[in-house]
Amino acid sequence: MAYCPQSLRPFSLLLLLALSTLTPAPAEAASPAENAVSKMLDDLIRIRRIDASQLDRPHLVAEGTRLALMDPTLAAATRWLTSEMWRLQYAKAPISARPDPNATYRLPYAAKIPRIVAQAAGGPMSHQDAENHEAIDFAMPIGAPVLAARRGRVLQVGDGTPLRERPPVQQDAPNFVSVLHDDGTFALYLHLAPGIPVKPGDDVEIGAKLGEAGNTGSPSGPHLHFVVLRRLGASQVGSVPVRFVVPGAGIVTPRARAYLGSPPTPTMKLRISLDGRPVEEGKLTQIRAGKPGQLRVEAVATDGTSRDVTTDAHTEYASMTLWSVDVDGKGRISAQPARGFAVGGPDVDRSLGGVAIFYGDSGDRDVGLGKVELQLTP
Ligand SMILES: [Zn+2]
Repeated sequence: MAYCPQSLRPFSLLLLLALSTLTPAPAEAASPAENAVSKMLDDLIRIRRIDASQLDRPHLVAEGTRLALMDPTLAAATRWLTSEMWRLQYAKAPISARPDPNATYRLPYAAKIPRIVAQAAGGPMSHQDAENHEAIDFAMPIGAPVLAARRGRVLQVGDGTPLRERPPVQQDAPNFVSVLHDDGTFALYLHLAPGIPVKPGDDVEIGAKLGEAGNTGSPSGPHLHFVVLRRLGASQVGSVPVRFVVPGAGIVTPRARAYLGSPPTPTMKLRISLDGRPVEEGKLTQIRAGKPGQLRVEAVATDGTSRDVTTDAHTEYASMTLWSVDVDGKGRISAQPARGFAVGGPDVDRSLGGVAIFYGDSGDRDVGLGKVELQLTP
């Protein structure tokens, strides 16, 4: 299933249809193969935000057509055109960069709210090919700040695709930022919301805001596709394994379905219940899909006395899995397994949801922390 923008399978299908009617053409008119290749090129330019003035279009169409006529499955033409686009897109990154073996990354989001790994490296949905194998998909709500995981210089920006209300019929162009690192590798931050605050050439420090999470170019819902790449040749890239430094957890290689973050260390215990049933840390709490539930939060003092802080001004609720669970400021939860979008696949069970609860003192320092891990039942 196509999931990440690097996939060209939808176009191959289109081309197969176009070429199934292949017939000898008059010398002057464009052949069906040429038309198909030309259309493929237009789609690539649009989706990958290539500056068309950089292209030698007649050459690309001629060579693509030659390959399409030799190989009617179009695999060769697709591969060649795709790699030509990569070459243009990442021309400023050095070839044969040696990834720094000691490089570590911070999480590409504010770590206070843990995020679930929707798909890890080698994930079955779309992290199988060389370009995507080491990519990580973090399920992130639209609008959550996306932060530079490592310092570097902005290589490219794709911007302007609006957010979507529902999965698109046709893949749209992902908004993205790529950042070149000291060792010649570069990170790709993909599916962002429109309104990228950086531009090519900008130096960005680790933790700098690169944009906000979105759902552009993603048929499966809001998430951040994060991958570190290096150019292997003029027109080839490969992904590089990434390790994150997560305060409190050490150096982490993300695994599917794990929550990654550095929530504040609680100094006060929160006792949480959902519709009267106690919530146990580390255990799944059931909630009926479509039937709203009510959380109750009590702050337990060291002397054992407790106080209901469910609607306290210092209590903050955050959904960790926006695709499945909404929570308001009063602890009211509504859960839907696939509100318009599906995030993940075999790696992420859409019936899973999570809510983080922070309780702050009067100085707004988080003193209490709770996590509700939900399982949605029909
Ligand atoms: Zn991905």
